[in-house]
Amino acid sequence: MKKIAVLGSTGSIGTQTLDIVRINEDLKVVALAAGSNVELMEKQIREFSPRMAVMWSEKACEDLRARVADTEVKIGCGMEGLLEIAAMEEMEVLVTAIVGMIGIRPTIAAIENGKTIALANKETLVTAGHIIMPLAEKKKVPILPVDSEHSAIFQSMNGEPAGRVRKILLTASGGPFRGKTANELKDMKVEDALKHPNWAMGRKITIDSATMVNKGLEVMEAKWLFGVDLDRIEVVVHPQSIIHSMVEYVDGAVMAQLGMPDMKLPIAYALFYPDRRPMDGEKVDFFKLGTLTFEKPDLETFTGLKLAFKAAEQGGSMPTVYNAANERAVSLFLERKIGFMQIPELIGMAMENHRRVADPSVDEILRTEKETYEFIERAIN
Ligand code: NDP
Repeated sequence: MKKIAVLGSTGSIGTQTLDIVRINEDLKVVALAAGSNVELMEKQIREFSPRMAVMWSEKACEDLRARVADTEVKIGCGMEGLLEIAAMEEMEVLVTAIVGMIGIRPTIAAIENGKTIALANKETLVTAGHIIMPLAEKKKVPILPVDSEHSAIFQSMNGEPAGRVRKILLTASGGPFRGKTANELKDMKVEDALKHPNWAMGRKITIDSATMVNKGLEVMEAKWLFGVDLDRIEVVVHPQSIIHSMVEYVDGAVMAQLGMPDMKLPIAYALFYPDRRPMDGEKVDFFKLGTLTFEKPDLETFTGLKLAFKAAEQGGSMPTVYNAANERAVSLFLERKIGFMQIPELIGMAMENHRRVADPSVDEILRTEKETYEFIERAIN
């Protein structure tokens, strides 16, 4: 029996993780955490009987406590609750499927406690990769990627040392606005940006796919996860989303992982690694597909991706600024307070304004996040 905790259990990755638990009797959920969706959390508690459940806000905690008073579950609150989950003795695998930098501290705490990390929360590595990766190495804790591209790279590397890799080819669907000009993008509405051609995901990451900021975050995530320099990571636009990423070795051999766009495969791979479990669902039919196509990304239109390479090159606290500025800008776009093209514009302005810290501590990362949020507020008012 493998005992897992799911941070972000009510979200897109969280609910799909629980779908996998439902069909695998050797997985047991010992803890769940979410932000404010008390109703779904109550259902999950009644179905999975975890020992502990955490909500972010005080109000949500109280509400949940009242709803599940007839059960044995212990209710925790806020960061304290997340850290308590990270330290639970019986827990073996922590699935980090929270959205945002809130994931940093629980991930660090879980590594310190020797827990395996199934990592979906990319913000953690983007902003604190320089802390997380050395710590995981020191504690001999595996960080298993859940992101489909990183899972594909991980599967394609299959234990080969980074020294044998010539290039990582990170595939991107190009999102709903592939092929459009910057001028056309100016008028794009929330509804247009939320229509991803291949993947069903949470709202924030769907907007990030439309701006290609998501690919930028993935470039930074890949750099930390696989220990390769930025100039060895190339983004390849592949609109069919069948090849989830590739690795080119020094001898020219290219390994790729292919599959239908379904997050359950990478989630299950992280949960059962190095085992593979049978999965239902549509399989790749090459005859039906016919052709797979590839393009270079348009960095002049999708400036959010160009800025990601710049932030990653500068390193230190700059990726935090990139990520935090994007987070605020996406929220403002979803609230219809700014236009689509203002998202990369605001990221660029925040990066220009920031005085970079070379090797930021967690406190400095979180301070940079707060200062960036404040900068964005000032910039739009
Ligand atoms: P969703 O927005 O669908 O879900 C986010 C989850 O985090 C929800 O359970 C939410 O709870 C919870 N949450 C938010 N804030 C807090 C908080 N302060 N404390 C505790 N829990 C909180 O996001 P996704 O599932 O799409 O993405 C999660 C992470 O995985 C992101 O980092 C994303 O980049 C990454 N990822 C997602 C992929 C996908 O296919 N969706 C693919 C690859 C990576 P509540 O519902 O109560 O608000």
